[in-house]
Amino acid sequence: AKSITGSFNSLPKTASKLTPSNIKPALEDIREAMVKADVNLQVVDSLLSGVSKKCVGQEIVGEVTGSQYFVKIMYDELTTMMGGTKDDTENTASPAQRISYKKDGVTTLVMAGLQGAGKTTFCAKLAKYLTVNEVDYDAVEAMEEEERKSTLSTRLPKSQRKVLIAACDVYRPAAREQLVLMANKAGVQVYEEADAEKGDAVKIASAAAEFAEKNGYDTLIVDTAGRQVVDENLMKELRDINKALSPDEILLVVDSMTGQAAASVTAAFDAAVGITGAILTKTDGDSRGGAAVSINGVSGRPIKFMGTGEKVDDITPFFPKRMASRILGMGDIVSLVEKASAEVSDAEAEAMAKKMEEGSFDFDDFLSQSKMVSKMGSFAGVAKMIPGMGGQIDDKMLRKAEVRLKKSEAMINSMTKKEKSKPKLLLTDKTARSRLDRIAKGSGNEYMDAVNFMSEFQKMKTMMSRMQKQMGGEGTMEAMG
Ligand code: GDP
Ligand code: MG
Repeated sequence: AKSITGSFNSLPKTASKLTPSNIKPALEDIREAMVKADVNLQVVDSLLSGVSKKCVGQEIVGEVTGSQYFVKIMYDELTTMMGGTKDDTENTASPAQRISYKKDGVTTLVMAGLQGAGKTTFCAKLAKYLTVNEVDYDAVEAMEEEERKSTLSTRLPKSQRKVLIAACDVYRPAAREQLVLMANKAGVQVYEEADAEKGDAVKIASAAAEFAEKNGYDTLIVDTAGRQVVDENLMKELRDINKALSPDEILLVVDSMTGQAAASVTAAFDAAVGITGAILTKTDGDSRGGAAVSINGVSGRPIKFMGTGEKVDDITPFFPKRMASRILGMGDIVSLVEKASAEVSDAEAEAMAKKMEEGSFDFDDFLSQSKMVSKMGSFAGVAKMIPGMGGQIDDKMLRKAEVRLKKSEAMINSMTKKEKSKPKLLLTDKTARSRLDRIAKGSGNEYMDAVNFMSEFQKMKTMMSRMQKQMGGEGTMEAMG
């Protein structure tokens, strides 16, 4: 059988660019492998069209092979498709994947999903996880703020949650006992009504919310009933619960073994009740990841946690990069990709350095320089990594810089080829004024924006050549320190 890994061997090693025709065999192999991994077909196609768009035109520089570029792009695309970002590692989740907590009052999380998906089990798992592990990010932020204002250094606490579970599956007689049993193992309390009748779910949910409020709980997890198939009564009950509680999260629990069927289930629940995220259960039984990609591809909602077994501790946050590696089926994909991206930036940096040495820094270089920065993560993220800069630059300033970068890019795109490669034409030439005027208009900017951009460009040029001299010269460390 063909593996995804095998696909990459068919990519060009000697071509100078990725083109529609030279990536075609790899795309076809990947398509086949994704279908085998049971990813929903429409999702596969939209994923691959994204990959192909990003690949085509990619120049192959330095020692990097075409397949390394391809892997990198594929891996990033798969990661973002599953709700992650390029800044994630294999062990981190993006902010969107965190539970969104209320600042004050009881944060309410409603579980939804088909019967047998693992809702009841997950309620107990999540309750324990939030009680023992979860950091309350708002609380931490508030603490950090305090710490900045104060001269005392305090240790940031893990703010553990006080969780109550509401037993709202009133259809199956054993449902309540099963929940209580699991919750006992989790050391978490359950709000239940012993004489509950069919149709009481909303009533119990409201009573539980009131109880939580009165008794100092900060988190309420609502277990609900499921059916074997998507059905209107089930959806109506969920909508009624949502109306009564206005939950902070409606989490769809999906059995990963259902593979691409996860797509239609997700679409149905999202349309009927509006989910805010998903939980992928039984990942210990399915390693293909088809469900993970399908859920996200269909709803655009992040998967927040995974169930990895039947026990109460078998829960982990969902890490998109880790799942992406798993789907691509390469044990060492991360090191491969990291090596590729390191080589990509090395090669690009080297080419840039060479240009500067020759004193021919032009607008195309400015653009690729800016793109290199955005490739490394957001401009904000990068600036924060520079020692000594993180503390001085606030997010507002960084956002402004990003906007300015976009503006510059638009202006560069309005330049003629000649202007791009001969900055002189826009700086000192007697036609400069009318050229800048045209460029400003063409990119939806004011003349003064173009003038400001020119001075920025010159600054960058000077800075780059100074940096170049320092890096190349002796006593580098002293010069830089
Ligand atoms: P519900 O009907 O949605 O409430 O599903 P349950 O919580 O009752 O789970 C159905 C079955 O799946 C039970 O036998 C659970 O033990 C099992 N289960 C739930 N989550 C996982 C998981 O992550 N891994 C495995 N292997 N089994 C699970
Ligand atoms: Mg249940």
